[in-house]
Amino acid sequence: MARRIIERLSEPFPLSAATAYVSASVGIADAERLHDAIREADTAMYHAKSLGASRYAFFDESLRARATSAIETATALRGAIRRGELEVYYQPIVATKSRKTVVYEALVRWNWQGRVRTPNEFIPIAESTNLIEEIGEWVLRTAISDLVTLRANGQDVTMSVNVSPMQLRDDSLPGIVQRVLDTFGVAGADLALEITESVLIDDVGAAKTVLDRLAAMGVLIVLDDFGIGYSSLNRLRKMPIALLKIDKSFVHEIGVSDSDVQLIRAITAMASALSVTTVAEGVETEEQAAIIEQLDCRFAQGYLYGRPAPIAHWLLESAQQR
Ligand code: C2E
Ligand code: MG
Ligand code: MG
Repeated sequence: MARRIIERLSEPFPLSAATAYVSASVGIADAERLHDAIREADTAMYHAKSLGASRYAFFDESLRARATSAIETATALRGAIRRGELEVYYQPIVATKSRKTVVYEALVRWNWQGRVRTPNEFIPIAESTNLIEEIGEWVLRTAISDLVTLRANGQDVTMSVNVSPMQLRDDSLPGIVQRVLDTFGVAGADLALEITESVLIDDVGAAKTVLDRLAAMGVLIVLDDFGIGYSSLNRLRKMPIALLKIDKSFVHEIGVSDSDVQLIRAITAMASALSVTTVAEGVETEEQAAIIEQLDCRFAQGYLYGRPAPIAHWLLESAQQR
């Protein structure tokens, strides 16, 4: 029956304005009670969707386990800040030529059930449960506080913090940022905020207003993971972007294929035409470092220069250098 429903719905629907093409995903569940059946069929339907368009799937125990673990994670995450389970790691961004650290990027970690979780394990959950605003503000506050500590220890650096597209949905971010900067006596120009291309795709107008206000405070706007999204150059040009981070997938192709060196070259040329500085992400080898230096990337980040680590690691490092 599911297959027949999917087939019938995949036929074109001639409407007066145009012909519409739709696809259907079907979830199937067998339960005693109606509301259980609807919930389980819904879970199975989303699973079918994740497999691709026009599929059907049965609800089973593995789906039940997966759904429960997402709910458990969300519940645990809700109390993570209060219980002190979140931690910010820092990864250096260096000047390509001197290899001197000029910026630290704040990367959040979650110590949960004896394991350090990386952002892709919980940021999507935080985004879908509205916890991201609270976590984002906590990361910002912690990073700025640690910036003050790093500077007191003689490091002449600034701080870069990742921002979720959801934090740009309303206009509260500039106020939050200003409050945190004031609390710690840090200038706007000592902070960079990293956004992804998706911000430039959906609802450009609202995001632009917020980004313009942040830029007016002196905050540098950084476009993260550049090259893998679909932002148009025209939109990019209208945004107050100061830096552009070339996605690590391009850097990792260095030495593997020639075309990616050409791509990085094209990106740096475009960036310089837009008066935007470039940062190469994910630099792991000396070969990659040599190429990106040759291609005029001013800044670089990656395991070659340093892995993300807690503040204590970088304080020790600055003590050793003195
Ligand atoms: P991102 O901002 O692009 O951060 C770079 C990611 O690449 C980090 O992963 C970093 O550990 C990893 N990386 C750095 N150098 C290398 C390298 O040489 N090779 C390889 N293979 N990987 C490298 P991480 O820490 O797991 O963070 C993943 C993503 O999560 C970040 O990507 C960022 O988009 C997001 N994120 C991190 N912290 C926050 C946060 O506080 N708020 C929000 N909204 N997102 C965050
Ligand atoms: Mg980033
Ligand atoms: Mg990135």
